[in-house]
Amino acid sequence: MTNTSIQLPCAAQSVGAVNSLVTTLFQTILTAQCALSAKSDWPPDYGDEALNDGIGKYDFIVIGAGSAGSVVASRLCENAKWKVLVLEAGDDPPQESEIPGLHIYLERTRYSWDYYSEPQPHICQALKRRLCYTPRGKLIGGTGAINGMIYVKGHRQDFDDWLAAGNTQWGWADVKQFYERAVSPVGNATHPMGYVVLDANKDVGSMLLNGAIFNATAELGVPSRSAFEDGIEVGTAFLPVTNSNGRRTSTGKTYLAKVSRRPNLHVIKNAHVHKIHFDSSGKRATRVTFSLRESYELSAEVRKEVVLSAGTIDSPKLLMLSGVGPRKHLEKLDIPVVHDLPVGSNLRDHVSLMVHFKLENTSFDALEQTRHIDLLYQFLTRNNSRLVNGSSSITSFVNTKRDSDLPDMQYHYALNQQGDVESLGVYFARRDQKYTASLIRQLRKSHLISFLLLSTKPRSVGKIRLRSSDYLDHPRIFSNYLSDPEDMATILRGIRFIERLEGTKAMRELNATLFRIPLEECDEYEYRSEAYWRCYVKYFGEGGYHLTGTVKMGPSSDRGACVDPRLRLYGVENLRVADASIMPDVPHANTNAPTIMIGERGADFIKQDWKEDDQGSNESK
Ligand SMILES: Cc1cc2nc3c(=O)[nH]c(=O)nc-3n(C[C@H](O)[C@H](O)[C@H](O)COP(=O)(O)OP(=O)(O)OC[C@H]3O[C@@H](n4cnc5c(N)ncnc54)[C@H](O)[C@@H]3O)c2cc1C
Repeated sequence: MTNTSIQLPCAAQSVGAVNSLVTTLFQTILTAQCALSAKSDWPPDYGDEALNDGIGKYDFIVIGAGSAGSVVASRLCENAKWKVLVLEAGDDPPQESEIPGLHIYLERTRYSWDYYSEPQPHICQALKRRLCYTPRGKLIGGTGAINGMIYVKGHRQDFDDWLAAGNTQWGWADVKQFYERAVSPVGNATHPMGYVVLDANKDVGSMLLNGAIFNATAELGVPSRSAFEDGIEVGTAFLPVTNSNGRRTSTGKTYLAKVSRRPNLHVIKNAHVHKIHFDSSGKRATRVTFSLRESYELSAEVRKEVVLSAGTIDSPKLLMLSGVGPRKHLEKLDIPVVHDLPVGSNLRDHVSLMVHFKLENTSFDALEQTRHIDLLYQFLTRNNSRLVNGSSSITSFVNTKRDSDLPDMQYHYALNQQGDVESLGVYFARRDQKYTASLIRQLRKSHLISFLLLSTKPRSVGKIRLRSSDYLDHPRIFSNYLSDPEDMATILRGIRFIERLEGTKAMRELNATLFRIPLEECDEYEYRSEAYWRCYVKYFGEGGYHLTGTVKMGPSSDRGACVDPRLRLYGVENLRVADASIMPDVPHANTNAPTIMIGERGADFIKQDWKEDDQGSNESK
């Protein structure tokens, strides 16, 4: 570019050299931006070949390339003799998925299934349309490509309870090896165990705040731990995240894309499966039909098994559309019943709540106007990992009753620097503006500490039902949050714990105090009274985004079970479900790591069950 080609409104123009340098800088930045989500990072799309040449038969068809489906497909195609097809409704992840913290911008885009619960009387009233928003990822990597990246394994007791309920081989001693198998350092070049890449989250947030939280929670009897090694337990610790060098590491990237050059693996993107077909006896799944790019109707036949990994909302939806579900419900929608099973029932989720402290403390810097620009530049050109982060660097698990070793509350913490309105963007985007204005005003005046409370073991149970027999219609999600009074009692104890935190020496030294969000709907109650907090929860409480249980696993004696402990759908020989929907109950912590474990566990069952066919290895490819 010559000097004459740029006419900037400068007092004096460049004679050429500076223009060249700036042009090089621009090009470098743009190239780095594209490299954030390069085509080569993702599996090739077999869609064009499928359209031009038709689709042959596959040994395994995996529906959904999310947290679990990507694991299952990756493990199955280790056997070079098995042809594996993955059908994923979404596309390659965009750049915002790759940068931790920007995932919130994927909500209400084509990369998210924007589900809403049916109206909830006890919760979500400050949200837009007064409805609980329930996003799910619609892209390679699934919800693991839009989540907060926190990687925790659940509590040992969660799995021992599954085992006690008759789910053989699902106790902590059984599943531990599958957690280990999933994580990167365990593998080696010839036996690629371990695809999940984890990073410590220590370099984000404020070490000053983290230190204060460790001290404050310890003052209240919550032990400080270096990590949650053997499953989570009561304590405060740093969190590992599914992140490497500042980039997200979903299973869509680490498990699936990594092996996607294997000739026996085909991945078709923008492939929305709308029916699983069975033979006349209903005992065998024979093929699946899907719409490709919203324009073509295609069908793929299966030789061995269909593995359904479409997640807690879409797996039951697809089963019901295919005739597997509660008889009465299907008959009402004129869907021929293949199997009468309690599909869609047993919906479980955590409940979340945001509470804020204002922090009038000069040890924390206010946000400099140029900080985000500086960090973005460093991130793009130096692969610097400190850009933004999707989650807090530490978490606490607390038993607010102090009556057992099991936590009933989990806390995440985030520092919102004075002036950094963006840092609360996720909550502002979901809330009605009326409920965000005071927080924005406060954030211009002081820092805030945001506490995200999660109740770890709610008792309330919801369900998912079809809205119609049209696969494009969103299902009806009856979350029933806080319908069990004990769940509200737990949240109230969780808030009292925050009040006690406020009184600790560590918090007083920070000069951090509860910030009262003006809330005219709750003004009739005395501030901080139980009635006031109940009202606060009604407005600012939300779902926990950890939906589980709608295709429940259990022994044949369990009338609520849909799949057996080897994940086979009852009544069908060759249809398994492997995703968060099979969990009999929601674990005491975030659900991504357990879902990845379920992918590993499920793939292992399949490999065992087809052992005689298990020859020919792709493992080193
Ligand atoms: C905003 C948010 C933040 C979260 N943060 C965390 C966190 O920090 N840590 C944590 O542990 N958990 C977190 N979770 C939860 C966690 O990510 C999920 O529990 C987990 O990803 C679920 O995995 P899955 O395999 O069951 O489903 P998914 O990962 O959702 O995979 C399902 C896949 O199937 C595809 N699909 C659906 N229907 C069809 C169809 N009909 N045809 C073809 N494909 C289909 C979807 O597009 C998707 O790719 C978060 C969730 C949300 C929403």
